[in-house]
Amino acid sequence: MRNALGLMLASVVAAIAIAGVWFWTSSPRADAASPQTIAARTTEPLPASAAKPKDDVEVTASLSKPATPPAPQPQPAKSACANPDALGVSRTVVIDTTGGPGFGFLQYKQFDFLTDHEVVLTFDDGPWPTTPTVLKTLADECTKAVFFPIGLHTTYHPEILKQVAAAGHTIGAHTWSHAHLDAKKMTEAQAKEEIEKGFSAVKMALGAAPAPFFRFPALAHTQATKDYLAARNIAMFSCDIDSNDFKSSSSDQVIQNVMTKLDKQGKGVILMHDLQKHTAAALPSLLRRLKAGGYKVVQMKAREQLETLPEYDAMLVKDLKVPAVASRPIGSVVQTVQD
Ligand SMILES: [Zn+2]
Repeated sequence: MRNALGLMLASVVAAIAIAGVWFWTSSPRADAASPQTIAARTTEPLPASAAKPKDDVEVTASLSKPATPPAPQPQPAKSACANPDALGVSRTVVIDTTGGPGFGFLQYKQFDFLTDHEVVLTFDDGPWPTTPTVLKTLADECTKAVFFPIGLHTTYHPEILKQVAAAGHTIGAHTWSHAHLDAKKMTEAQAKEEIEKGFSAVKMALGAAPAPFFRFPALAHTQATKDYLAARNIAMFSCDIDSNDFKSSSSDQVIQNVMTKLDKQGKGVILMHDLQKHTAAALPSLLRRLKAGGYKVVQMKAREQLETLPEYDAMLVKDLKVPAVASRPIGSVVQTVQD
């Protein structure tokens, strides 16, 4: 049996070898195709002077291309904008948050990274039922923003915060309960808890770490809280253009507030609230006005995400009475009592 198999195998191999030799010798077109293409390619882009390693790299790359299957595209969402006249994103900047840099010249005159007519869109106080409307408008304009959600709100609407993340926006934090951290009665430990629990809540809602981007409620900072954020390598966000949307009585007024200040200052970080219905209603017109005025949106991302502190993650779980059942065997949790 073995001998018979071996014999069959040998004859098949021999047949292939013979066929190969015949093919090689009797088919000039076939053998011309591959080796000559390679030779032509190696010599063609290399005139007499070109013996530089740089050119060699290019030739090698072009030759190896047809042999390798096309690589999967890691970021297919980038060119998915269906609106040819969209506001879009003109550039994306990555922030190294080491040492807690501050942005927004209203309070932090440190990093003047925006050029004329560049803006950063920011939204505070979500996630809220108004947030999906804001997300839709941003998606329609193929543009991106930074969101500073309130920790407590993320526990009410975690699925909305997940939509914010899925749309590719940057998500920082805005304390646990929107406490003003400059309040007289606020102890250092309470301020720290507000900051850390806010980030832990965002992480819990998303199932992923937030950006180390923080905005003080009411922009109320103290030297101690700024020092704390700096030690945690968390960037602080103030603003350049305050929409005052929480005081506005109509969407027109929100647009007016932003455009008047922006046309005067020429650029900046715009502060809005995705929780405000006038803002959600104003946004389509506001983004059109930005486009018409020649303004360009800059997206801000963090170089590294924040590592939340385990004690505050645990505190949150305890406060929310989330049962720690994951470690129990399934049989002790789910029992079939009737088939
Ligand atoms: Zn706020």
